[in-house]
Order: sequence, then structure tokens, then C-alpha cells
Amino acid sequence: MIRYLKDGIDVEIAEATDKKVQGIVEGILEDIQKNGDAAVREYSEKFDNWSPTSYRLSAQEIKACYDEVTDQELHDIKFAQEQVRNFAQAQRDSMLDVEVETLPGVILGHKHTPMNSVGCYVPGGKYPLVASAHMSVVTAKVAGVKRVIACAPPFNGRPSPAIVVAMDLAGADEIYCFGGVQAIGAMAIGTETIAPVDFLVGPGNAFVAEAKRQLFGRVGIDLFAGPTETLVIADESVDGELCAADLLGQAEHGPNSPAVLLTNSEVLAKETMAEVERQLTELPTADIAGVAWAEYGQVIVCDTYEEMVEKADEIASEHVQVMTKDPNYFLENMTNYGALFLGEETNVSYGDKVIGTNHTLPTKKAARYTGGLWVGKFIKTCTYQRVTKEASVVVGEYCSRLCKLEGFMGHKEQADIRLRRYAGSKEKY
Ligand code: NAD
Repeated sequence: MIRYLKDGIDVEIAEATDKKVQGIVEGILEDIQKNGDAAVREYSEKFDNWSPTSYRLSAQEIKACYDEVTDQELHDIKFAQEQVRNFAQAQRDSMLDVEVETLPGVILGHKHTPMNSVGCYVPGGKYPLVASAHMSVVTAKVAGVKRVIACAPPFNGRPSPAIVVAMDLAGADEIYCFGGVQAIGAMAIGTETIAPVDFLVGPGNAFVAEAKRQLFGRVGIDLFAGPTETLVIADESVDGELCAADLLGQAEHGPNSPAVLLTNSEVLAKETMAEVERQLTELPTADIAGVAWAEYGQVIVCDTYEEMVEKADEIASEHVQVMTKDPNYFLENMTNYGALFLGEETNVSYGDKVIGTNHTLPTKKAARYTGGLWVGKFIKTCTYQRVTKEASVVVGEYCSRLCKLEGFMGHKEQADIRLRRYAGSKEKY
């Protein structure tokens, strides 16, 4: 039986985005479509109080950012990028082209081709999310994307030096300092000064996520990566202190970031709830994490592991931290999650910042149909075929009859003309 020791707002599916946010985003995108750079500037001034001479950073401005990061920071950014690059490269190497003879003389294949241009959004409203530069730009470059443009909003009234350095080290070809819907719109729609991209990636707040959703079709998007969510699955093999730290560590992303504990131990559930309250008195970001916990936090107690898997799949959380006696049980049985963190030795923060798996992950139950950002999202899998004359006759006869069945006489003639040429057939329509 499933019991709620603490209830909170359930995550809604992505479709049900706030109508107010939808309207605001629609208006800004329409304006960018009509007025290009002028509209981008207007919204950048309005929402971020930011109006530089050029939104694109010059080589000199980029170089100046390096002078503002310490050697240790540079070392750490390089280390994190190396981990992301190594894992992305291993994933790329696993994507094999296919060519196979399916019938005598019929060769079918697929080939992996990177996209030509990609726009990477690095969030930076509440925190300068340096790690998002590794996740998007490094991965796009490993995929082989020729033009990777990267942008982030101003932080404390100017470009964040650490983000700019991370974008540059990751290999971004153009770096811009602007954020929100105006950044997403500028990259997707294009302006007088920015050539549009084919594909948009990167996480962001509700406005950013909604802008990507509205632009889908005109450009591709990686996934619906909205406000962060976390689910901690734990049993009595761990204590409340650890569970509370792992819940609050993700709740600090934003006041609308759900953090849920799912356990089969009522003792652990109560201990964790008390620990959350205690840790909130010490956590420097308690003003955000506390609101998220109060409104979206949930504590759910189940009787069995089967029930826990069922509930976890229903929640379909972006992050799932598993701290049970046998974490592999959840790897083997769960179907809906953005990323799994197996065992108490690892945690979501490792994935967010440094370990090498991508941190741009599906939210709002999108984990029901997609995994997170990875090198494969930047690559198109496109098919091709080649056929001998003899095989064309075999396939052509089937095709001719199947076209007639559907009434597609033009299609039928495409087969028949080959049958006449290669097998002396007389048939025309
Ligand atoms: P952000 O960069 O996403 O958004 C900042 C921008 O929002 C600003 O530049 C501003 O232009 C715009 N904005 C703010 N208020 C607005 C308004 N009223 N109307 C229109 N535009 C407005 O940065 P953030 O706000 O800090 O959010 C980052 C988000 O990314 C968080 O919600 C975090 O949880 C999420 N995140 C998700 C993942 C994932 O993989 N799902 C990973 C990391 C972060």
C-alpha cells in the first residue's frame, strides 16, 4: 500500500505549461520574428537590464574572461569537460553505421550525420550554470557539429567569466551574452546579426523551456528540460541525513523544483523529514530549497520494492538517486527516468557537475518517452539504398502491385518503367 507522509504538488506533464507563460513567450517570439535584433535588445533590457553594444562576445572579451578565473577554476573546468568528452566519445563510438544485404542484390544502410548548426543555451538566471556549457557544447563538438553557438544570460550584470571560459574551452564557435526567450528566439529564428541554427539544446527555466516547445518544428529541440526534479529511493540501509542532503541539494535549483523521497521504511521517512528541517536551518540556499520542499516536496512510503518501482515509473523523475541494499534491482526494473544514480557513493551533484554523464535531462514526465541529451541527439540517422538490376525486377513486381492496391499510379510507373527496361515487361498503368 502507498502512503503519503508529506504531500506536495505533483509534477504535471509538459503539455500543461502555465497559460500565462505560454502567452508571454508567444508574444516575445512574434516580436523577434518581426523586429529581429531590436526586439532581442528590448527584452534583454526589460528582463535582464542588459544592453551591450554587441551581444556577441569579441575574441578580446573572451580572452579577458580567462584573466578572471583562477588556475584552480580553470583546472576544474577542464577536468569536468574531459570527463564529459570521454563519455560522449565512447557513446559516439558505439553508434555504428549499418549496411546490409537484405535480399540478393538489395543493399540497405544507414549513416550517421551530424547536424550543421546548433544553438546551446546555458542557463544563468539564479546560478551561473557553468556545467551546462560542458554538457551542450562539448557534446555537440564530439558529435561533429560544424557551427555551435552558445549563449547565457548576464550574471550580476555582465557575462559570467566562468561560463564564457567553459564555452570557449568546449569549442563554441560563437559566444553570446543574452538569456531567456530572447536568446532562444534569436538563435532559432535568426536576426540581422545572427544566422539561425537547425537545433536548440540546453536546460532553462519555464520561459526557456516553453520557448523551445513553441519553436519545435521550425528547429529541432533536444528535449523538454525544465525545472529540475529529483527522486530519492531509499531503504533502511541509509540514514535520514544522507537522504535529506540529496533532496535539498536538488531542491535548491528553484522554488518549483520537486524533491521526492520514496521509501519502504517509515522510520527513515520520519528521520529524513526531521533532517530536512534541520538542514534547512544551515543551508545557505534555504530560501529557495525551503520553498521547493514546502510546496513540491513529497514523502511516500511503500510496502514492497515492486510498489516502489511502480510509483517511481509513474513519477518519471529527471534524477533518481537509489540508495537501497540492491540498487541494481531498480536499474533492471525501472523504465521511466532521466538518469539513475546507483548507490550512496554517488549522487546527482556528481552528474550535474563533473562525472561525465550529461546533466540535461527530461523533466515533467518526458522521461516516459526520451532519455537525456547525449551525442546521438546531435546526429541524424539517415538511410540509403542500392539495388542491382536483377533485384530491381524482383522488388519492382511487388512494388507495382502494391502501388495499384493503393491507387498510386505515378508510384506504380516508377516501378514499371524499370520492369520494362530490365525485364522486358510491357505493362504501362
Ligand atoms: P535561465 O537562464 O533559464 O533563465 C533566465 C532568463 O529568464 C533571464 O535571462 C530572463 O530573460 C528570463 N526571464 C526571467 N523572468 C522572466 C519573465 N517574467 N518573463 C520572461 N522572461 C523572464 O535561468 P534560471 O531562471 O536560473 O533557471 C535555470 C533553470 O534550469 C532552473 O529551473 C533549473 O532547475 C533548470 N535546469 C534544468 C536542467 C535539466 O536538465 N532539466 C539542468 C540544469 C538546470
